[in-house]
Amino acid sequence: MVNKIAVYPGSFDPFHNGHFDIVSRAAKVFDRIIIGVLHNANKKTLFTPQERIEMIKETVKKIPKIEVKSFEGLLVDFLKEVGALTIIRGLRTYSDFEYELQMAHINRSLLPTIETVFFVTKEEFSFLSSRLIKEIFFLKGEVDKFVSDPVLEALKKKYNEKCI
Ligand code: ADP
Repeated sequence: MVNKIAVYPGSFDPFHNGHFDIVSRAAKVFDRIIIGVLHNANKKTLFTPQERIEMIKETVKKIPKIEVKSFEGLLVDFLKEVGALTIIRGLRTYSDFEYELQMAHINRSLLPTIETVFFVTKEEFSFLSSRLIKEIFFLKGEVDKFVSDPVLEALKKKYNEKCI
């Protein structure tokens, strides 16, 4: 039987509509998708892994085949742990491609049985990044059209915490 479990890994700090577009399109191709929220203790993030997991779970709750988990360490070890053979990544620009190609090669050299599959972003999301959303939001710009309601709420909560 073909293993059609895929992992969509990322920092998702925060999860935005570009991420949602990729994972919801991937859900039409794979039987089960695990969104892997990277917990890297050396990388400063606005949201904790648990906060990111919660906002993503709320955002994807209408698509039952998508699960959300956090992982630390090597992505290939996470794939082994969950029994997945495929990594999903999104491509926005040519500069994404250079980095993603390098990651795909390195991951395959670490675990030759895996494949990386790329989904090309829709034009309307090609300029979106988590970094820009945070910048716009903290400069009091509107980000409603870039993120889901649960993510918007999480951003507002974080803003209030930071301003106390
Ligand atoms: P990283 O994993 O490099 O920390 P992110 O968490 O932002 O980056 O993104 C996770 C995945 O989603 C990556 O494959 C990234 O290329 C993709 N991605 C990010 N932003 C978009 C977007 N606007 N449209 C489509 N894919 C995106």
